[in-house]
Amino acid sequence: MPYAALPPVTRATRLALADARWGAMLAARPDLAPAVALQRTLIGRVIDLADSFEGGRIQRLSLPQRYLTTKLRSGIPALTGEPIQLPVSAIAPALVDLSRALAEGGGGAATQEILRAMEGGRLDVGALLVLTLRREQGALRAFATKAGLGHDLLWLVLDLAVSPFAHALLDGLFGAVPAEAPLGAALDEWTHGYCPLCGSWPTLIEDLNGLRRLRCSFCAAAWDVAGRACLFCGESGETRATLTPDPSRPGRTVDLCGTCRGYVKTMDSEASLPFPLVALADLESMDLDLAAMQHGCARPTIKQFPRR
Ligand SMILES: [Zn+2]
Ligand SMILES: [Zn+2]
Repeated sequence: MPYAALPPVTRATRLALADARWGAMLAARPDLAPAVALQRTLIGRVIDLADSFEGGRIQRLSLPQRYLTTKLRSGIPALTGEPIQLPVSAIAPALVDLSRALAEGGGGAATQEILRAMEGGRLDVGALLVLTLRREQGALRAFATKAGLGHDLLWLVLDLAVSPFAHALLDGLFGAVPAEAPLGAALDEWTHGYCPLCGSWPTLIEDLNGLRRLRCSFCAAAWDVAGRACLFCGESGETRATLTPDPSRPGRTVDLCGTCRGYVKTMDSEASLPFPLVALADLESMDLDLAAMQHGCARPTIKQFPRR
């Protein structure tokens, strides 16, 4: 079950790919125009921030390969429990820009409130960025509730703002690992449903001619899984079902699990999408989310790992 280190992509290629997909989305679903316009702004800002991290301009995380190999072999994602310095001064302006774009693009009063809290210096942005990188959704929810802010929206903007740094860590730690090295082998042997770097669940599965490639919702890691057991709880019995909500597009399906009520979308794909364009495929397949929700399923909450 190989881990896929995707080839590096230039900014121009990323933007051209994104433009083509947005164009196709709008042609098929003109009603998505406002959502596409907002996503263009958000993804554009994410790409700008990602560019600033390219070429090793962030402090590289130095985790010995032997240590990482042991960790992965125990089923623990690479970043779990690691004290990581985030480039707060680089990320914070992007966080404000993303919040503003969301507030102006239909995020409503709840997003305005988040933006005001940020601009008014009422939030410890550094601490929130750390919680986001650590995928501590529960702690963030508690914080948001206490601060009277919308949890889902706050998580959404934080997730977008930290994702370029998470992707840079992915590149730095797993990008150039030879398959024959012990770490390469440990990555290839990763059979879990959660991301080997950050522990997030996949946003979706790219079906590449029968090869099922999971794509991390956060750092955009790509890893392949065989078998059809539930990614979230391991259920492989009869409580599982596969829906094809649009029979005219049989390559788009959603797997539901009756045991944990989780679901995951699968889409026929010609090639893996580079960071951060998995979000485009996610938007494009909202009808699959809807179908899953109508069957009482939801995206599972992020898995928590014991801290050392
Ligand atoms: Zn990840
Ligand atoms: Zn399940």
